[in-house]
Amino acid sequence: MKLNQNYFNVNDSYLFSDIAKKVAAYQAANPQKKVLRLGIGDVTLPLAPAVVAALHSAADEMGRRESFRGYGPEQGYPFLKEAVRGYYDERGIRLDGGEIFISDGAKSDLGNILDIFGQDNVVLIPDPVYPVYVDTNVMAGRKVTYMNATEENGFLPMPDYSVDADIIYLCSPNNPTGAAYSLQQLKEWVDYANAKGAVILYDAAYECFVSEDGLARSIFAVEGAKACAIEFCSFSKMAGFTGTRCGWTVVPEQLAGGKANRMWLRRQTTKFNGVPYIVQRAAEAVFTPDGRRQIAGNINYYMNNARIIARALEELGIWFAGGKNSPYIWLKCPGGMGSWQFFDYLLENAQVVGTPGAGFGRNGEGFFRLTAFGSEEVTREAADRIKRLLLK
Ligand code: PLP
Repeated sequence: MKLNQNYFNVNDSYLFSDIAKKVAAYQAANPQKKVLRLGIGDVTLPLAPAVVAALHSAADEMGRRESFRGYGPEQGYPFLKEAVRGYYDERGIRLDGGEIFISDGAKSDLGNILDIFGQDNVVLIPDPVYPVYVDTNVMAGRKVTYMNATEENGFLPMPDYSVDADIIYLCSPNNPTGAAYSLQQLKEWVDYANAKGAVILYDAAYECFVSEDGLARSIFAVEGAKACAIEFCSFSKMAGFTGTRCGWTVVPEQLAGGKANRMWLRRQTTKFNGVPYIVQRAAEAVFTPDGRRQIAGNINYYMNNARIIARALEELGIWFAGGKNSPYIWLKCPGGMGSWQFFDYLLENAQVVGTPGAGFGRNGEGFFRLTAFGSEEVTREAADRIKRLLLK
């Protein structure tokens, strides 16, 4: 046998293990110090009561012969597809049930979607960004072209017609920068993709944090997007499903004359056996009035944390992106420090842990990610410590 040599070209990611090692070493040397973590990208609030009730009742159904379910439709049960369709409908976006595919989360689909695209596509990926896009393409042996997300463009790169691309990744609101595209900016991307005959793989995993008018929550709010875009969405950050696992992907009928939709259906029915019934019932509960209210409460809780961090940075006069329509705050390291230098400085002098921007790409050097997913108490204390340290 021969191994897939492309795997040897994937950069080893030591970002989170390096962080863990540094924090463990610091804590071992300073056991009396309380370290506060604002580095994690995982949620901390528990599942909403409406979701838990749905899980219980679906589990009971599975325990009775008359309501037991075995294999379900690979692309998701109609009840959940219908709930997702309604979620788009409210925003004036009309989708057909056949365009919605239920998944076990955005990460799997973002990786698996590459199955339907040819080997010789030119891939365009922003730098910095969520590392999965690059790694999955490298594993598949594709060459990646980068577009620069920088302070100058507000970490929102725009299309350059002198650059040719076939597969374009956009992530809005962005991980790690928290920057979110406006509908107008997305329209420029849609026009570019349609002009080039390219596809936009649009990662909307953080759409639920968008509150400002004029910013995009779905690329399908933009005219022409159904001819050139696939959208990936997730219950992970929206409803705390990081460990429960559920998401959805929209592959429009108009894309490649319906071929992309049918190929994705074929791919999923061949290689995937669907999301557990219990989990799909839990996800359905997210869209009930109780679920909505409870989940909005959780999102507000995180966004309040984001405001606490943002206010501290404003007081310090530190440049940052995100925080308003995203649980991520992306700040410029003060005093011209490098990402890791600032990481050490913050850990040693304020016992606050964040994520060095350099871990998300070349353009992340000199920047730093803080997240709003912690508790309010920890967030407040961390913001105070950062203020006290940097005001000096
Ligand atoms: N997309 C982005 C931008 C993310 O940051 C993450 C997770 O952190 C995901 C997708 C993965 O989401 P899921 O939990 O649905 O696989």
